[in-house]
Order: sequence, then C-alpha cells, then structure tokens
Amino acid sequence: MTTTNPSEIWSSALGSLQLEVTRHNYDTWLRGTTGVSAADGTFVVGVPSAFVAETLEKRMSPLISRTLHGLLNDDVRVVYRVHTGGDTGGDTAGDTSTAAPGPAAAPALKKRAAPPDAASLTINPRLTFDTFVVGKSNRFAHAVAMAAAENPGRSDLNPLYLHAGVGLGKTHLLHAIGNAVRARGLSCLYVSAEQFTNDFISALREGRQEEFRAKYRNLDVLLVDDIQFIAGKEHSRESFFHTFNDLHTSSKQIVISSDSHPKSIPLLEDRLRSRFEAGVRADIQPPDLETRMAILGKKAQLARVKLEPDVLDFLARKVVRNVRELEGALNRLIAMASMTGRPPDLDLAQQAVADMPTPAGRLRRSDPAEIIAIVSTYFAITPQELVAKTRKSNVALARQVAAYLLREQTTRTLAEIGGLLGDRGHSTILRAHDKIAREINLNTERNRQLGEIRAALDRSSPH
Ligand code: ADP
Ligand code: MG
Repeated sequence: MTTTNPSEIWSSALGSLQLEVTRHNYDTWLRGTTGVSAADGTFVVGVPSAFVAETLEKRMSPLISRTLHGLLNDDVRVVYRVHTGGDTGGDTAGDTSTAAPGPAAAPALKKRAAPPDAASLTINPRLTFDTFVVGKSNRFAHAVAMAAAENPGRSDLNPLYLHAGVGLGKTHLLHAIGNAVRARGLSCLYVSAEQFTNDFISALREGRQEEFRAKYRNLDVLLVDDIQFIAGKEHSRESFFHTFNDLHTSSKQIVISSDSHPKSIPLLEDRLRSRFEAGVRADIQPPDLETRMAILGKKAQLARVKLEPDVLDFLARKVVRNVRELEGALNRLIAMASMTGRPPDLDLAQQAVADMPTPAGRLRRSDPAEIIAIVSTYFAITPQELVAKTRKSNVALARQVAAYLLREQTTRTLAEIGGLLGDRGHSTILRAHDKIAREINLNTERNRQLGEIRAALDRSSPH
C-alpha cells in the first residue's frame, strides 16, 4: 500500500472483501462500514450498529484481518466501533476529504510523505504499464489499454471494457491508464462501481447532486472498476447511464472493468449493455507458466530480492490460478526470509507455500464428509445421490464441485477422492477438478456458487 489513510486503506480492503464474500453478506455486513483510524497496530472500523460489529467480529474477523494484513504487510488488531452522530458511513469512497477520522485518527501505521492531493490518492503509483508483465493471456487487453491511455476518447476504443476473473490484472490496468494520463496533465478519476454507487446515494441524500455531476463529468478519463456491482442498483445505474452518455458524447474516455462479459451480467439493463458493447472489449485469461515466471521475476526485482530460477519455477508451478495469489506466495517467501534471516531459497519457498492459506485464505483442511454434506445441501440433493451413478446434470455438477473442493481443501489423494465419490477413477476426479477450476475463472455464476459453498463451509468448520 502506498496510502496510510485509514479511509483509503479500508476502501481497498472493501474492494477485496467484496470479491471474497457473497454479495448478500457484503451488502448486509460490510457495506457502509468505514476506515476510522489506523494507529499503533490497531485498525478501527466504523460500523452502523452493535449488531454488525458483533457479526463481523464473530464471522468475518479472520478474513478481515487477513485482508488488512495483505494490504499493510503488517499484522493489525481490528476493532469495530459503532458510528456516532452525523457519520452516516455511506461513503467509503476515495474521497478522503469526507473521511471522518474521529479522535483516534492520529498517526498512521507507517508514516510517509503526505500525498499531493486527495484525488490522486485513488490512483496507485505502483500500478503502471511498466510494472505490468505482458504475456499471451493479457496481450490484447494491455495493448488496447495502452492505446486508450495514449489517445483517450478515440472513438473505436471508447468505452474500453476489460473483463477477467479475480486477480488477473483489471485494476492494475485501470490504474496504469490513470497514471499515464495523469502524467500528461489530463484529469482522470478512478472509482469502483461500489464507490460510484455510494457517492451517488450520499449526494442524493445530502442534496449535493451538482457536486456529484461536476465530479464525474468534468473529466478527460473515467475509470470504473468492477462494474458488475452496479447491476442490480436501479438508481445508480440510471445515474451511471447519464454520466456515461455525457462523457461519451463529448469524446471523453471511459474504461470499465468487470468480472464478466456484459452479456452475462444479470440485471444489467439493455441500454447500458449495448453502450458497453459499442467500444472495444478485451478479456484477460489466467497467465501461462512462462508469464507467471516473468511476473514473479518482475515482482521480486521490484522488491529488490534476488530469486534463483529454481525458486521462480517452483512458485510459478505451485500457484496457478491468479496473479494476486502468486504475489501473495512471493510476499510470504520474502517475509519469511526477512523474519528468519534465511535466504529465499527453494527450501524456504516450499515452506512458504505449505503454510499459505488456500485461495482466498480459506480452510485448507476441511472434513471430506462435511464437504459432501454441504455441497449436497447447496444443490438440493442428498449425499447418496451425489455419489450415485447418475448423470443427471445438476447431480453431475454437484459431484464435480465436490471433487474440486475435496482436492483443494483436503489432503486426500485423487484415488481417495474417487473412492469417496462413488468409486470413480482418478482421471475422472482430475477432469472434474480442472473443469470447475476453469469455470471459476470464466463463469461468474460458478464463481459465485463456489463462493457461497465455501462460505457455508467456513461457517461450519471449526477454525
Ligand atoms: P483484478 O482487478 O483483475 O482482480 P488486480 O489488477 O488487482 O486484479 O491484480 C492483482 C495483483 O496482481 C495486483 O497486485 C497486480 O499488480 C498483479 N498483477 C496482475 N496482473 C499482472 C501482470 N500482468 N503483471 C504484473 N502484475 C500483475
Ligand atoms: Mg480489481
């Protein structure tokens, strides 16, 4: 993190949390929370009620701590404090001037020079085209992002719509565009769709519509991250539609990122969808081995750590799903090396990965019976049906999901998993696992389902 502002830090944390919990849980428990202060190893989160505080404490503490740890590279104790008085807590967006630090605002966790102005805070200077590694999986997205940055508003690239699964570089590319156009003195705003929504709602509530309009329309470039979050919110969508049209008709560049193709965002109205489809779309696929190695090499170089090729190769083979996890593995290795004074060699890399929380930081050790039970419940079938010899499609899907989770979250071998799932061969299990792994990255629906099942597992497994 380059920011030390609690509101900014929490805003980034919310960005990640949004991807980790179900939308329902996000809306119920995390929406409207704020970063109040960060001092002396304690991070204070402002929440709307004691009930929310209690629930977050009980159900989401490990996830929240892990998320903050990832952002701050430091352990923090998280404290939930109920908002008092006028703090409506609606706007956790990048607008730091409205952040309500409260009396405990005091020194940030790590002191750095004050950033130049509030608006530029929201663009992370680390996320540039220079630090973005190009490979087969992201070449087109990178090329169109560069072109839009060089020539914002170019009609064939407007809007630019980037889509990809979690952790594959969408946010990075948006920031890279932001950094490039800012460097040339153009005005540019980066927001998540969530921030846009919050901003819109609080402007409405507080009668600041004019200010809102000015903020979003006097721009050369508008970067909107994770647009899927605007889908079901009618008024914000409406407002976005008008913002979009205003900017577009005056040839201002709009760049949108999403976890899926505009066609597969449910609840996105047609007129917005057709606007999104009018410019250029680029998707980003999970990186291949070679690109993963290059990314690790680049990140190690940025962190000024020298890694031997065998270490790069090991990590790149071990962590395949997305770049965020890859980066997490590397950071862990670097942290372990500096804590223990040992060299970041293959030995330590193996340890770093062994201790790593699984994707999204969830349980590595689940009880196989629990997985089968929860997956069955989720798909509304019985465990007996799940393991039976039927090919009915919902049962087959449930079985594939179970195979995936058993492989991901238990130490059972493929043969053992085959045994648990009705005597199936190990290649069947492997195919099922790979199919679901692929679908998670490409298919929003599947991604959401897995998120919900994992959340159910999280709730049921003792930590
Ligand atoms: P997304 O927004 O798609 O979920 P991010 O842009 O946040 O993903 O990327 C996750 C992490 O991986 C970030 O730290 C980002 O810098 C890094 N990353 C992703 N793709 C690349 C790449 N091609 N080269 C270098 N770093 C990357
Ligand atoms: Mg992102």
